[in-house]
Amino acid sequence: MGEDLERLKQHLPLLDYLRQLNWSGRPAGQGPELVGLCPLHSETRPSFYVNTCKNLFYCHGCGQGGDLIRFIELSQHLSFRQSIAYLEQQKTSATEPSLMEQAAAFYQRQLQHCPEALCYLEQRGVRDPVLIEELRTGYAPGGNLRRHLTDQGYSLESLQRAGLINLQGCDALYRRVVFPCRLDTQVVNLYGRSIGAAFPHRFLPGPKGGLFAWETVRHFSTLILVEGPLDLAVLWQVGFRNTTCAFGTHLTPFQFHQLSEKPERLVFIVFDQDENQAGQRTAHHLAHRLAGARVPARVVRLPAGHDPNSYFVGGATPADFADCLEEAYPR
Ligand SMILES: [Zn+2]
Repeated sequence: MGEDLERLKQHLPLLDYLRQLNWSGRPAGQGPELVGLCPLHSETRPSFYVNTCKNLFYCHGCGQGGDLIRFIELSQHLSFRQSIAYLEQQKTSATEPSLMEQAAAFYQRQLQHCPEALCYLEQRGVRDPVLIEELRTGYAPGGNLRRHLTDQGYSLESLQRAGLINLQGCDALYRRVVFPCRLDTQVVNLYGRSIGAAFPHRFLPGPKGGLFAWETVRHFSTLILVEGPLDLAVLWQVGFRNTTCAFGTHLTPFQFHQLSEKPERLVFIVFDQDENQAGQRTAHHLAHRLAGARVPARVVRLPAGHDPNSYFVGGATPADFADCLEEAYPR
């Protein structure tokens, strides 16, 4: 039940649902929050906040908050069970998975024509063309996606709804190496890593999907969890094919569920060894939660200042990395 529910919510992000109701919000600060008028009570000043990462809402006016199912319960006056049935029905009509697939495929084709992107990957130690293809790595030069997709017959509105195009009509991803985020086999989001000065990490609005390359790694009895796809790429390249990533240190409930579905699985957590120890603290916290779900987890320490990507780019060998795994805590 828990997993089905998460899957259902991932398929229809709260924001997408609200937009179908013509709700509109403006960014509230720097984070993933939008604020707009509350659809649950009448008001003239926006106090309804939507967190597009967590897929949660909260209204400071009427005090209501929760996830998509809670929103449907409140707005449609349905029970929890009825709300789920209602959502199941919506699911088929609401999502346009082919649109994200098309965008990912387009970006993937762009990569070969953009030397600056290949050069960036090279600098990050990702050289194997077969691997680049296998990870469906793409590149968003910016400025040409809208034309391509509208030529394919997609409406501007559907592009905006998916977050591929911003409200000014420009491509949302600009000068970014792109990796598709999947839920099961469907592309549900795109992660863009800036190759320039822009903020390094960017997602489109909506949930980030499951663990990266999950279908490929789920059968391993030992898994290595890293922060980003570029960490994953260097590890796959040298043979640690049992590596996955959650696109950041925060796992969604669904990703946590994936990681803990097999209790006999051993998980090595290899987050950034940053100065302020934030990555290590998060890793220990996650290891603790996994232990609570009866999944043994070990926290791997890399030399100071390194993440798996910079460690290999800096000349580490697979044997060096294997030593780090060997010394992971607790043994
Ligand atoms: Zn309200």
